[in-house]
Amino acid sequence: MMFELNGFLQQQREQDLYRTRITCEGMQAPLQVCEGKPVLSFCSNDYLGLAADARIAKTLRDAIEKYGVGSGAAHLINGHTSAHHALEEELAEFTGRERALLFSTGYMANLGVISALLGRNDEVIADKLVHASLIDAAKLSGAKLQRYQHGDVSALQSRLEKPAVTKRLIVTDGVFSMDGDIAPLPKILKQFDKTNSAVLVDDAHGFGVLGKHGGGCVEHFNCNDDVDILMGTLGKAFGTFGAFVAGSEELIETLIQSARSYIFTTAMPAAIAEATRTSLKIVKTENERREKLKSLISQFRTGAREIGLNLADSITPIQPVIVGSSKQALKMSRALAEKDILVTAIRPPTVSKGSARLRITFSAAHTEKQVEELLSALELVA
Ligand SMILES: *Cc1c(COP(=O)(O)O)cnc(C)c1O
Repeated sequence: MMFELNGFLQQQREQDLYRTRITCEGMQAPLQVCEGKPVLSFCSNDYLGLAADARIAKTLRDAIEKYGVGSGAAHLINGHTSAHHALEEELAEFTGRERALLFSTGYMANLGVISALLGRNDEVIADKLVHASLIDAAKLSGAKLQRYQHGDVSALQSRLEKPAVTKRLIVTDGVFSMDGDIAPLPKILKQFDKTNSAVLVDDAHGFGVLGKHGGGCVEHFNCNDDVDILMGTLGKAFGTFGAFVAGSEELIETLIQSARSYIFTTAMPAAIAEATRTSLKIVKTENERREKLKSLISQFRTGAREIGLNLADSITPIQPVIVGSSKQALKMSRALAEKDILVTAIRPPTVSKGSARLRITFSAAHTEKQVEELLSALELVA
């Protein structure tokens, strides 16, 4: 027999931290069948409603005819196709960078970048609330990890007082995944002297959503030129799968030489890359999706304030309702589920103790009426 695991599982249950999955049918959309019953969901990262877009799906089917399903090998062997290459060039243009490099997932992109660039004598200075993959990446690199209070530029500044003797990487999410707020990038960028230093922005939740052309937080703040390393994911607003890092020629070539999560893994299927090219065109041109999203968000915030919900300071489609204890968050999420509304309870360790919440997210595919339904249900369960 294997070693004992039950103690841990029991403890998770006792602390209301036990995680389970629900099984859903059909396409990613506001109306889905989950656990056998129809639900209205507000928990997906499909912000622009592209995950089930017919044009993207058609490109995927056509590309499968051409490329087949599997890519068969890593990018450095023979898994890199003209579809990947074209998407990389288009992402470089979209982000205004010399180059972009595709990774199989955002998690792997972060692991790859930080561990390729930094080593034991270097330092990572990260916002307290950055995504888990960035923390894991910093640990993997062996660099000294320092964290500053969330969004607190003066706390960051005090970390930057000593000049960087070895490499120093400042790391932040563009849009914070559990709070929905945007990193104060212009202030962060003003803080530091570039000697031995660089900034990495993980804009998994900003790309496609912020900025008139969906360029994310750097477009929102008009500070693209000052961000050295930009990471984005394709499984959220883009509605497909995978991730990319954009930056200088030198940066990308360094990653190709030494990012282990790039080198030692199978390339994403070429057909997914091809489908993402269609997605990128839609993201750039269909600003009406972002406008729709904005109007749903403001409808929600106005309604939620009237009910007296504890909202966070967020203008993005991530609209957490902070409730405090894990127990209360679970209770509300379950009460909503009884009303066939799907909203996830987010509990520690994903968020800090005492800040358990309902993480409500919006998609351009939602309707005003669905937002009204959500508000009425929240009023009953709050
Ligand atoms: C989702 C997410 C990731 C990971 O991206 P995947 O492609 O899902 O692996 C990384 N960073 C942030 C901020 C995210 O929200």
